[in-house]
Amino acid sequence: MSSLKGKDIISALQFERAEVEGLFRLADQLRKEISEKGVLDYAKGKVMATVFLEPSTRTKLSFQFAMVRLGGEVIDFEVSASSLAKGETDIDTLKIIDGYDPDVMVLRQKKPHFPEEIAGMIKAPIINGGDGPNEHPTQALLDVYTIWRELGKVDGLTIGIMGDLKYGRTPSSLSYLLSKFNDITIYYIAPDVLQIREEVLKNIEGKVTYHQVNDVSGVMEKLDVLYVTRLQKERFKDPSEYERLKGSYKIDKEFLSKFKRIPIIMHPLPRVWELDPGVDELPQAKYFEQAKNGMYIRAALIKEVLGV
Ligand code: ASP
Repeated sequence: MSSLKGKDIISALQFERAEVEGLFRLADQLRKEISEKGVLDYAKGKVMATVFLEPSTRTKLSFQFAMVRLGGEVIDFEVSASSLAKGETDIDTLKIIDGYDPDVMVLRQKKPHFPEEIAGMIKAPIINGGDGPNEHPTQALLDVYTIWRELGKVDGLTIGIMGDLKYGRTPSSLSYLLSKFNDITIYYIAPDVLQIREEVLKNIEGKVTYHQVNDVSGVMEKLDVLYVTRLQKERFKDPSEYERLKGSYKIDKEFLSKFKRIPIIMHPLPRVWELDPGVDELPQAKYFEQAKNGMYIRAALIKEVLGV
């Protein structure tokens, strides 16, 4: 039986390495089955609720596509037309949705640690689709799944995580998931004011070798993966701080052409100005593949959580 059956998926720290590798293999198997049959019947009769209280494109859509490909049904909560506008609280809203008995609920909310706060009040297993700047565990699954597929392994790799490491939730979850593997080196590449949060370093201490640097040029040729992230504009308290930092790091083809060895380039997307579309034509550009991998790994996770 799946060790994830009925579990809330809250943090990338909660996974065992064997569970992660099992999900990677299952995602590959589902990819094959979906390409052969289109729609499968593992989740027939099951219902997933998607409740996104912050904007989303890839996470919500890939969960919805994944559930439909597994043969299940999706009910989407439409925030703009809901009673949240009348002042209903997020907790009441979630209790109401839970009362309709979804088999699994995918939740995005802006407050850090909100999913663990409400998990005890909600019967359905909750999958954290992003809790503010804190974590995005299923993004980390698709990120490491992409690395595993592209480079054939995860152990022993050197990964540069660049950009807004302070307000971003993907750098924290990615670091946590990488910490389940052996002999990992992470370079955190960011201006000092955007460097990785202390609590993230505390959680990976002793499990990963890490360095904090301001500039990517000096480390580029050491990297197997360069993971670029955007500045999280919506989380800046002071808009002038965003304007000051805007454009402080950028990857384009001209910049990359200076190096003898270019790592694979990843990005959780959306990109804004930090990753030039000219890079898309390089064989090392993997971010569209990465987004697509999200559907398969999320299908694997849903299947395991449902226990079907
Ligand atoms: N899509 C990712 C997230 O939801 C990355 C981003 O928004 O910058 O965190």
